[in-house]
Amino acid sequence: MTPVAPRLTPERRRRAIGLVLVAAAAAGMALLLFRSRPRPNVLLVTIDTLRADHLGCYGDRAADTPVLDALAARGVRFTTAVAHAPLTAPSHASILTGLLPPGHGVRDNGSFVLPRSATTLAEVLRDAGYRTAAFVSGFPLDHRFGFARGFETYDDRLLRGRDPRRAAYVERTAADVTRSAVDWIRGARAPWFAWVHYFDPHAPYEPPPDLAERFVASPYDGEIAYVDREMGRLLGAVDASGTLVLVTADHGESLGEHGEATHGVFVYDATLRVPWIMAGPGIARGRVSPVVARGIDVAPTLIDYVGQRVPRPMQGRPLRPAADGREIEDAPAYAESLFCQLNLGWAGLHAWRTARWKIIDAPRPELYDLATDPAETRGVSAGETHGAENLRSALQRTLEARGPDSSTAPEPAVLERLRTLGYLGGSSPSHPTGRDPKDGIALVERLESGLAEARARPALAVQELSAVLAEEPDAPLARRYRAIAFQFAGRYLDSVADIRVLEAKGPPSLDDLTVLAESLRLAGRHDEALAALDRANALDPRAPEPPLLRARTLRAMGRSEEAGVALRQALALDPGSGEARRGLGELALERGAVDEAASLLEPVVAGDPTDVPALVKLGVVRMRAGRPDDALALFERAVALDPRNPEALLDLAGALGKSGRAAAAIPRFEKAIEVGGRTTAALNGLGVARLESGDAGGAARAFRESLTLDPQQKGVAELLRQAARRPR
Ligand SMILES: [Zn+2]
Repeated sequence: MTPVAPRLTPERRRRAIGLVLVAAAAAGMALLLFRSRPRPNVLLVTIDTLRADHLGCYGDRAADTPVLDALAARGVRFTTAVAHAPLTAPSHASILTGLLPPGHGVRDNGSFVLPRSATTLAEVLRDAGYRTAAFVSGFPLDHRFGFARGFETYDDRLLRGRDPRRAAYVERTAADVTRSAVDWIRGARAPWFAWVHYFDPHAPYEPPPDLAERFVASPYDGEIAYVDREMGRLLGAVDASGTLVLVTADHGESLGEHGEATHGVFVYDATLRVPWIMAGPGIARGRVSPVVARGIDVAPTLIDYVGQRVPRPMQGRPLRPAADGREIEDAPAYAESLFCQLNLGWAGLHAWRTARWKIIDAPRPELYDLATDPAETRGVSAGETHGAENLRSALQRTLEARGPDSSTAPEPAVLERLRTLGYLGGSSPSHPTGRDPKDGIALVERLESGLAEARARPALAVQELSAVLAEEPDAPLARRYRAIAFQFAGRYLDSVADIRVLEAKGPPSLDDLTVLAESLRLAGRHDEALAALDRANALDPRAPEPPLLRARTLRAMGRSEEAGVALRQALALDPGSGEARRGLGELALERGAVDEAASLLEPVVAGDPTDVPALVKLGVVRMRAGRPDDALALFERAVALDPRNPEALLDLAGALGKSGRAAAAIPRFEKAIEVGGRTTAALNGLGVARLESGDAGGAARAFRESLTLDPQQKGVAELLRQAARRPR
């Protein structure tokens, strides 16, 4: 039986329907309010080498940081935020895992791998349903060191960072990182977590031209202004009301304080005090909190804000109560630098700080009252404060705590990787002196400048590193980098000799063997180079560098087919390897397979528009394919990027000549000869170009010289006769 509906007048019916709709809307709203408060996106920005006191919002009147200042104005700023290590990898490991360096085990750059047992912020957010991506710009954060864990996308593309003889610090500019991050953010489904790492304030300080001009006296601040500008573009791409933004740094920069130019050696506040600015949904506007914020608090704070539980092993704490304006106790902070210990055999530095005091455990310990002496220039004697003993024992407990904590001990595979990289076993200084870094800072400065200049100014680097080795003959890092500097200075056998010294002290690292192989190749000792590469490959069969260098060596020996095999092996190990693709493209070109060469070289140039050798080879491909205008454009770009590249100059000159622009070709041929030497190819090209522009005498001189180099060139002899017949 169907229920009989009460008869309603049209007016009543309309009213009833209206009431039902209102009720439904209210229920829906309640449901929405209850269920949603959609989870915020999370944007973590770490700006490498950024001192807090060089930002406008931290009181620097000369700073040009409007974007970060505005972020602080719409959020919370912590006046005192501290890092746990003055080095990129250890400090970032603390930021991402909430663990102190003894807990996560990453104690230096380039030599430690984050253990799997340490849970990362990215893993927590990914497991909570976030899309995750990271965009980093410095080699210490390369994926090989374990920082990629938990990220679905890990963009660590460093345009020139794949060189096995890489510089100590390869960087990517803020514009490039921002572009990549913004592209991802625009396409990401919410909620998402992005970590963006800017490297620009790190030395060398080279801001873009307009800022270089404005900050002539302090280019470091110019780099900061540059990152701030790029941060404006980054923040412009995110929805401010739905995104939690946290900006901090991995460490500061000493800028000459305590005799230290950059960072990495000491554990003073000059390199440990960093900014901490956050804003977004649920965060108060314009609050300044005096509570001490620590690197290990970053992950717990963000995890707490998105409503997840902070994993138990994390040693930091959520700072939401402080951001909400509640008074909470300051938590003490541990800091360390083992740079001198690991690389020179000196003493490691360990520090413990409270809001007011800092104690530094060194052969000559130091104690500072940060309230009256924030620059840490007037040490207090331990007897003057009763707290000193407490500080020391708290520090001791932190250092001892790592032993029994098996959850954070590196696994065997990681230990093996460390040994491979050369930092365990024989490559650490075998005769530690325990010297206090305070007493040797001048020497460390020479070491740093040697590391930084090994490739760019190898002669200077050799001088600096030789000075270090004269005092510390057992310092493996100095010797390793001197071997690189010798190689770049063209002193190949000296380079080989340095690596042999390292080998005599313990098993060589992968880097040692690749430097050795490359120096041997450049010295023409090809068979020995191949033998060194066999050892490198056995040490780490997953590393792409040994097959790449094997290909270079085999090509120098004329063994093209085997070189192709090695290049394909390298490409399988590192599908992003530009050198492998370029090498295969060159081999295809040598075989006359122009289309194949094009398909190999095009993605290399697209991926890195500054890859000069690839530009040149693709230009040759275009010439062969009958597209001289495209070829000319590629050669022009190559020469603009590297004006002293003889191959690029020669190809450009040749292409100009072939397209009927002999007059323009002449100076390019002359320049190619100046930088690349007098070759028959360059002299013949020059001769033809002169002949075509009516300079028969000049042409004859070039042909004559070419014939003295190789008298067998019949065509050139004929050209010389033509030139001689022309009226002068
Ligand atoms: Zn750093």
